[in-house]
Amino acid sequence: MSRTLQLAEQLISRPSVTPDDAGCQQILGERLARLGFRLESIESSPADFRVTNLWAVRPGAAEPQATRTVAFAGHTDVVPTGPLEQWSSHPFTPTHRGGKLYGRGACDMKTSLAAFVVAIEDFLAATPDPRLTLALLLTSDEEGPALDGTVVVCNTLAARGERIDYCIVGEPTAVERCGDMIKNGRRGTMSGKLTVKGVQGHIAYPHLAKNPVHAFAPALAELVAINAAGGWDAASNAYFQPTSWQISNIHAGTGASNVIPGAAVIDFNFRFSTESTPESLQARVQAVLDAHGLDYTLAWTIGGLPFLTTPGELVGAVQGAIRDETGIETELSTSGGTSDARFIAKICKQVVELGPVNASIHKIDEHIAVAEIEQLKNIYKRTLDRLETLLGV
Ligand SMILES: [Zn+2]
Repeated sequence: MSRTLQLAEQLISRPSVTPDDAGCQQILGERLARLGFRLESIESSPADFRVTNLWAVRPGAAEPQATRTVAFAGHTDVVPTGPLEQWSSHPFTPTHRGGKLYGRGACDMKTSLAAFVVAIEDFLAATPDPRLTLALLLTSDEEGPALDGTVVVCNTLAARGERIDYCIVGEPTAVERCGDMIKNGRRGTMSGKLTVKGVQGHIAYPHLAKNPVHAFAPALAELVAINAAGGWDAASNAYFQPTSWQISNIHAGTGASNVIPGAAVIDFNFRFSTESTPESLQARVQAVLDAHGLDYTLAWTIGGLPFLTTPGELVGAVQGAIRDETGIETELSTSGGTSDARFIAKICKQVVELGPVNASIHKIDEHIAVAEIEQLKNIYKRTLDRLETLLGV
């Protein structure tokens, strides 16, 4: 059995439902300590919500100014299993069927973690004294609120002036085959809660009331039209879909059929590209509401800022590694939801996400093709080789 598969199974056997790490970081940390990594736990979580974070670093042989730090980043927590009786085998008993490995976390993302560590082992076996500084950032709070995990580690590193030059996040990004897609950015997310005020009254006496739904309707049409025209962004961007504004909930009314409601509450969300900022989007929405003379309140919540890693050293190294290992020309994408990469991008200019096929993540019977486990490890190892070569000899 390959060492990557063995380690992946060891991790899957730990029932690390978020935010419980269940000893996964200790297993990985011990392997890294043997390779000369310095381990540090960086924690800030409240006593009733125990989050475990590990920051492990192995300084490179180059001078501090000349070395580059490459970090692998990921999470040891998994989402809950769902009904156990619906699983074909126990989610925390790694099981092989038809060339696939089944278990919670098989794709998201314990196999990536195993592949990170074995790739580092293989890299150091071939290059015992690399100029690269190697690092691993792990959290057990990615699938939960993500308030005490990667963001805390990144803030701590920023406060100490520590630098990450390249970061590979092991989130499952492939569509059909390992290596066919990587994420070189993610959209930002921002939610708004709009309350349009009216005057409640009897349906039969509309002149004595003010209907907030009717008042909002023309503004709604205008906001939807901006969406349809791709008009939120300053310019189009080759890497992002146009910014999108979507209503998630809309509510007004007392339940009675003869009452004009006194207020309408509209929840909406932006998924936005690097061509927009929270400020630009907020100003635009408010301008539309003001133009229609609405009486309203509006509360905003920024869930994450967008980031983009344009093709350069890291994207090039990853593309080359995937090509060498699989023959695939990988596709760059910024689609999908947010990930912890949004926090890392604040302290690292080059971040990409590269991991297994994501078709079964969070589902019953989560699985990964066994053949792709070794491929993933080799892609990570080849990426390290290429980044080391960039530093010269
Ligand atoms: Zn994940």
